Amino acid sequence: MADRDLLPQNDFSRRIIHLDMDAFYASVEMRDRPELAGKAVVIARDPRKTGGHGVVATANYRARKYGVGSAMAAVQALKLIPARELVFVEPDFAKYRRVSGQVHDLMHELTDQIESVALDEAYLDVTRSKMPDKSPLQLASWLQERIFQDLRLTSSFGVSYNKFLAKMGSEYAKPFGRSYISPDRAQAFLDRQEIKNFPGIGKKTQERLQKEGVLTGGDLRAYGLDRLLKNFKKAGYYMALHAYGIDLSPVRASRQRKSLGKERTFEPVIYDQDRARAYLRDFSKTVAAELDQRQLLARVIILKLRDRNFKTITRRQMIQPSRDPDLFYQQAAELLDKEPEFLAEGIRLLGLSAGELEEAHYQEISLFADE
Ligand SMILES: [Mg+2]
Repeated sequence: MADRDLLPQNDFSRRIIHLDMDAFYASVEMRDRPELAGKAVVIARDPRKTGGHGVVATANYRARKYGVGSAMAAVQALKLIPARELVFVEPDFAKYRRVSGQVHDLMHELTDQIESVALDEAYLDVTRSKMPDKSPLQLASWLQERIFQDLRLTSSFGVSYNKFLAKMGSEYAKPFGRSYISPDRAQAFLDRQEIKNFPGIGKKTQERLQKEGVLTGGDLRAYGLDRLLKNFKKAGYYMALHAYGIDLSPVRASRQRKSLGKERTFEPVIYDQDRARAYLRDFSKTVAAELDQRQLLARVIILKLRDRNFKTITRRQMIQPSRDPDLFYQQAAELLDKEPEFLAEGIRLLGLSAGELEEAHYQEISLFADE
């Protein structure tokens, strides 16, 4: 039996984008500090001030030309880069997180099915996107342009039918490029790739394979599943999967938001229980509709109260995963009943949120699994 038939089959109906920001931390610093133009920028604390300690978080492309890259000891940069070009910039992770959040806001305009791998890297499942008339490659272009125009940063994209190929594609497209690997072109693309470009093939494995004449993805296929399994065990199995472009792993959407809610301030304050409840009923409907639209379920209901004197509390009630407005209302009303002094003082602010959100999809799957 051919190796291909012994391995699992791809799901060709999926559309996955891999986004990778180009030299992210360095690019953010270069954007914000024009004096860095033309310099080899190394994001690390200056090893001359740290007694030689410290590691490179990232380096811009100019520094990379000298062989400096992530995870290298910062002192190495002193040896490799001419002093007149070299600039160390201390990393500012709070800033990178902020910018990453802005990139994520743009991603969410396409889909909420986003798996963040790092501040500068994410997978998006756009099999069903929020812009249905755009093709996956058009979605990637749209995102790349928005990131460039709005944030003045460059990014690279790979588009394909699984995460592995999407990532191979974005690596290939780097910097500031896009690639689309279609089912009929995947094998030819992989066959040409050097084995060092495949994930999970470390230096030692590379050397072993090279000794056996395996230099490319095509060689890896020719080497065969049998020998891969015999010589590399489980790692060999993954090499075979990758050589054939097989990857069934889903995009694991991180919770986009921890909670989703609605609140309102009252002036004059509310003393009337029925009125407070009417608002809670209204908030429940709004929040449930929003969850429904985003295909999310809540595991907790949170009531927020502020009284006339600005005393503020939040109260939480765990629930079975749900987006049922009646359940939300009932839970929130019970929480309100336990805090009678707020109505007595007068409620200035009332809020209801759904928290600990999860993908509705997983819930449906687990229901099936129980049968
Ligand atoms: Mg990157």
